[in-house]
Amino acid sequence: MAKIRIYFIESLKEKLTKTQKSELRKIILQNAKKACKIFGVPLVSFIVRQDKKLVIPETGESAITLTEDQIGIYVDVRRIKQLRARLPQTIYHELNHAARGHNALHSKSTLLQAIIAEGLAIAVEEEFFNNIPPYGKYTKKEVEKYLKILNKNLHVKKYDYYEWFHGAGKLPRWLGYKVGAYIVKQAKANTGLTTVKLTRVPAEKIFEMGQKNNS
Ligand SMILES: [Zn+2]
Repeated sequence: MAKIRIYFIESLKEKLTKTQKSELRKIILQNAKKACKIFGVPLVSFIVRQDKKLVIPETGESAITLTEDQIGIYVDVRRIKQLRARLPQTIYHELNHAARGHNALHSKSTLLQAIIAEGLAIAVEEEFFNNIPPYGKYTKKEVEKYLKILNKNLHVKKYDYYEWFHGAGKLPRWLGYKVGAYIVKQAKANTGLTTVKLTRVPAEKIFEMGQKNNS
């Protein structure tokens, strides 16, 4: 069984009570146990902090996989009802990144690798929870418009992460997530493979799988 560690980071302004910590711990542990088994992650530490300013406004939490064995989660515990529904999905999403060794801010990964990692994690959310997160919802028209830009920048390492994934520049918010979700969906449809099977497949290969019969 995977080794799972959960640490709460104290904040000067926003406190978590014992009861709140205990509930969060339970949600994280229960879901991480299952997801670690599914994706083959042997060890993971979660660093959890209450911070209402750093969560995704739509979901009440945000998370980042820092290394293959370390995941940071921000929560707004005032929205606990929403967290009960959202956190399990986020834990699966991040553990899929951990299994791939994906780190969003890693300068060694290309734009394509980052986009495919997000597409896979969104597909995981959809496959296991039957729910598409807000950053994974797209229209075909919107995505196809930007696929042309992506095609010119596939192997770029020095892309602007905040522009591609968080709408900080000229690109629409969450574009990298949406394009990734679209490509992975095509790859799954074309090959019949599940996201678990695709978890350790290189991004370039998944991109190729998404192109077949895609005219
Ligand atoms: Zn992600």
